[in-house]
Amino acid sequence: MLSIGKTGWIEKEKPVCGSLDAICRPIVLAPCTSDVHTVWAGAIGERQNMILGHEAVVEVVEPVKDFKPGDRVIVPAITPDWGALESQAGYLMHSGGMLCGWKFSNFKDGVFAEYFHVNHADANLAHLPENVKPENAVMLCDMVVTGFHGVELADVKFGDSVCVIGIGPVGLMAVAGANKRGASYIYEVGSRPNCVEAAKYYGETDIINYKNGDIVEQVLEKTKNKGVDRVIIAGGDVNTFEQAIKMLKPGGAVGNVNYLGEGEYIKIPRIEWVLVWDIKQSMQVSLQEEDSRWKRWLHS
Ligand SMILES: [Zn+2]
Repeated sequence: MLSIGKTGWIEKEKPVCGSLDAICRPIVLAPCTSDVHTVWAGAIGERQNMILGHEAVVEVVEPVKDFKPGDRVIVPAITPDWGALESQAGYLMHSGGMLCGWKFSNFKDGVFAEYFHVNHADANLAHLPENVKPENAVMLCDMVVTGFHGVELADVKFGDSVCVIGIGPVGLMAVAGANKRGASYIYEVGSRPNCVEAAKYYGETDIINYKNGDIVEQVLEKTKNKGVDRVIIAGGDVNTFEQAIKMLKPGGAVGNVNYLGEGEYIKIPRIEWVLVWDIKQSMQVSLQEEDSRWKRWLHS
């Protein structure tokens, strides 16, 4: 990425390896929609002369403790600083500041390079199992784990009804993750026939086709006006958050793993948000409980 709206090839020095780091050489790379949004929509602001890419299966060139040269490893899109306070509190994505756990093609050069640098490599790399093909494993860097992270953010529990908005690879993996967590109903919003077929394979129970009308109305109709316990946003635009809130039960939760388009703000519907206010209350209580548990442990 040379600047917003402009791409090209660029020569850079081979990165320098620190004591906790690794230098890697790509075997298989995958471009992400985020790369496209970063360049063509300027979704994270201006970046100049930055190497794109954050999905790679690689060979280790300069090693660390658990990885030697020639090892084939998976590099995740998110590579936190594990010593940061935010990481220790469980917010790996935000280690060192908002979104700072996402480094490749955001705050540092990405993986579409001959060589690239991985921080905290012992904690951030994973060995590629011998029976897994690199071109399959590259889907683990972002698509699979981001979908699963949406499930974690929405805190899907056994028996929940879940709506997944978006039927790309991340949405499909959110369906798979919700299914693994024991959701009873999984409504998947999408229309592309091959993705609808895949969603069925991963465990959706109902397809909500936005071409057949308002998705909120369709979800409410299917749930007898109750709404769903959890919504995972893995697609859509600046209006999607509003739809997610409107189809949610009181006390439900939304897990968002989407850029939500572009622009400065997202919309939150006033009346329905009052219902969701309950979440904030219960979240505060549980955070306080967590905090006092931590303090008790510290003083014991
Ligand atoms: Zn990505």
